[in-house]
Amino acid sequence: MKKATTCVHAGNNNHNPAHGLNTPVYTSSAFGYLDTQENIYPRYYNTPNQEVVVQKLCALEQGEAGLLFGSGMAAISTAMLALLQAGDHVILQRDLYGGTHHFVTTELERVGISYTLVEEPTVDQLEVAVQPTTKLVYIETPSNPLLKITDVAAVGSWAQQHKLISVIDNTFASPINQNPIPLGVDVVLHSGTKYLGGHSDLCFGAVITSQSLRDRIYATAINLGGSINAATCALIERSLKTLSLRVAQQNRNAQAIAEFLQQHPAVNQVHYPGLADHPGHETAKQQMQGFGGMLSFEPRVDGSDGAERLMRQLKIITPAISLGGIESLVCAPAKTSHIKLSAEERRLVGVSDELLRISVGIEDTEDLVEDLQQALV
Ligand SMILES: *Cc1c(COP(=O)(O)O)cnc(C)c1O
Repeated sequence: MKKATTCVHAGNNNHNPAHGLNTPVYTSSAFGYLDTQENIYPRYYNTPNQEVVVQKLCALEQGEAGLLFGSGMAAISTAMLALLQAGDHVILQRDLYGGTHHFVTTELERVGISYTLVEEPTVDQLEVAVQPTTKLVYIETPSNPLLKITDVAAVGSWAQQHKLISVIDNTFASPINQNPIPLGVDVVLHSGTKYLGGHSDLCFGAVITSQSLRDRIYATAINLGGSINAATCALIERSLKTLSLRVAQQNRNAQAIAEFLQQHPAVNQVHYPGLADHPGHETAKQQMQGFGGMLSFEPRVDGSDGAERLMRQLKIITPAISLGGIESLVCAPAKTSHIKLSAEERRLVGVSDELLRISVGIEDTEDLVEDLQQALV
């Protein structure tokens, strides 16, 4: 099955007595156990509604097994705490999602896990960072908010050579645009709150990986308890059925907006991997099936105030935090995801006061371009 079909059909559990087409919502937290093969319980991550969603995500990511969590951070923290122990070392890229950066810098050393943040996870920089105790390498591509591209297959095979577990946060790309497991990465993480949910009304996370790594993560996951209930699973299942449609339109809209902004005299720079002059364009073309719905740009305005004035001129694109939904959102990373960094730190990671990030929605392409056109004059 191709992805659009997988979104609609994979994992469907419609074997219900009334022959309804949709998976029944099993509202129970208590399940009979005398006639079942395993004990079913929400925090054992094995209720029917959890399993349907996991099967759909495994089919989309070409993974063997997975787990669903109550947030992206629950998936990320559980996976790392499960796969690492005191004395281990982990390598991550420096421009991580803010919440992941905060988790790594505030929790890992407390439990005896050391880490190195590399500027860019190229094989050269990974070779410099690797230590005898290194167990895991962790990447995010495209990155937030500058859409930097990491060569996923290169990191995957480097990790295999060094017998390390490779982990990727695939949230920005979504499984429609990028499948890291066939590229050689061991563990795929998602903040489902973004594209998978896609309507800015759900919060969840997912891990997709091999059966053996899933079992290792599971052993810790039942202790940490970040599971999800059936009603949310049913909404996720419905959302996933339209994932490929939504992402296809988001890809188209983002490309059109990036091209429009690039030629606009009031814009200094556009960061979008679908643009031929983006430094990661060739790698993105190799490893992505679409360039995604996230972009950022530097309007020719004066500082944070100028950026805010521009956002307030927009009529459709809404200033809001988060991403991946059907509606287009804009935010200034200097005032949102990167607000905890000093001005100097922001300068070092390339986040200017003027930088605006757009999460492109599924609206009409022309309406979105016109909205930016009228705001930029
Ligand atoms: C939002 C996000 C997360 C965290 O997900 P939550 O659902 O907010 O816990 C992790 N990684 C990326 C790339 C994100 O955008």
